[in-house]
Amino acid sequence: MILVVNAGSSSVKYQLVDLDGPIRLKEGKIERIGEPGSDVPDHEAALLRVAEDVSMDSADLTAIGHRVVHGGPLFTGPVLITDDVVKQIEEAVPLAPLHNPSNLAGIEVTRRLRPDLPQVAVFDTAFHSMIPPAARTYAIDREVAERFGVRRYGFHGTSTAYVSRAAAALVGKPGTANVIVLHLGNGASASAVSAGRCVDTSMGMTPLEGLVMGTRSGDLDPAIIFHLIRGGMTPDEVESMLIHRSGLLGLCGDNDMRTVMERVESGDEEAALAYNVYSHRLRKYIGAYCAVLGRVDVIAFTGGVGENSALVRRNVLTGLEPMGIRLDPLRNVSVKGARLVSADDSAVAVAVVPTDEELEIARETSEVLARTKSE
Ligand code: ADP
Repeated sequence: MILVVNAGSSSVKYQLVDLDGPIRLKEGKIERIGEPGSDVPDHEAALLRVAEDVSMDSADLTAIGHRVVHGGPLFTGPVLITDDVVKQIEEAVPLAPLHNPSNLAGIEVTRRLRPDLPQVAVFDTAFHSMIPPAARTYAIDREVAERFGVRRYGFHGTSTAYVSRAAAALVGKPGTANVIVLHLGNGASASAVSAGRCVDTSMGMTPLEGLVMGTRSGDLDPAIIFHLIRGGMTPDEVESMLIHRSGLLGLCGDNDMRTVMERVESGDEEAALAYNVYSHRLRKYIGAYCAVLGRVDVIAFTGGVGENSALVRRNVLTGLEPMGIRLDPLRNVSVKGARLVSADDSAVAVAVVPTDEELEIARETSEVLARTKSE
């Protein structure tokens, strides 16, 4: 049995997974950590609750797998957590100041509670660490880039690894398919994966770049930032606006895609513009990644929007028939589960794959254990 811990800034999500048996034995979420009026003051208190719920002292527990958002430049895959690894995750805190500290807090508590158990860190950035230099390098002064650690890292890697593998299996090309993964949730990213290896991804040094998201702008002309600062905004104000008050929210006042779409249906022009900006950007990335990959076997939709919205999938792909992409309207409906939604004669398959980051973390944790045992 493996315990998967995803310690975020204000919540801890956890799952008890048995890779051999009925997969998910238990799952839960402790919320509102450290918020006023909450009875969970900190991550220690949250993890103690998790420990009680999953019987963390049980002899059946073989390992704990932790989600860690940023692995910095060092980590190219999951690793067994040691004191050195903890130090290196601390060094990546400036790259993910909102996420890595809470991931570390979770690790610290579970290591104290079960010092005898192997614990593994699974990084969101790791799957993207193989992105070739041409795609991960920003075209700025090299010396400056090196001094400040400026490069594309990419995020959503654990989800992208899981979804690209599942989509490749769906089209009968496990391990060899060229896949475009569109992870569309509150955060959103597109990735190009060739034979299991990520070759480009839309999020960059931070999760701000790329697609239009719920509250994040995605791509923009960097000169806009200087224009705003010279106009009187502080750098912190600009950053906060781009992260928290942009994207769908900035354009129409709603960041929840369901609400945006209801407003579009009722003829709301602001919502329609927001939705069109979102779809236009997404189409641009699909085109770009078709070019990056040369041949695409399957486009896979995942995340809250990608998995549930047949309409977004249809709107985004309509007009791409000349590129060999054709949905089947009878398949592209709102049903659950991993499946193909493209027409039989579509040169490029289209899949919907519900993501499962926890299962992927459990799987990678178990692989690290097997590797360390055989060494
Ligand atoms: P997170 O990125 O926080 O994990 P999710 O992957 O759950 O979030 O995605 C949340 C988004 O999915 C929200 O914008 C929500 O409106 C959207 N969503 C969920 N169901 C639907 C649906 N049926 N149609 C359109 N959007 C949906």
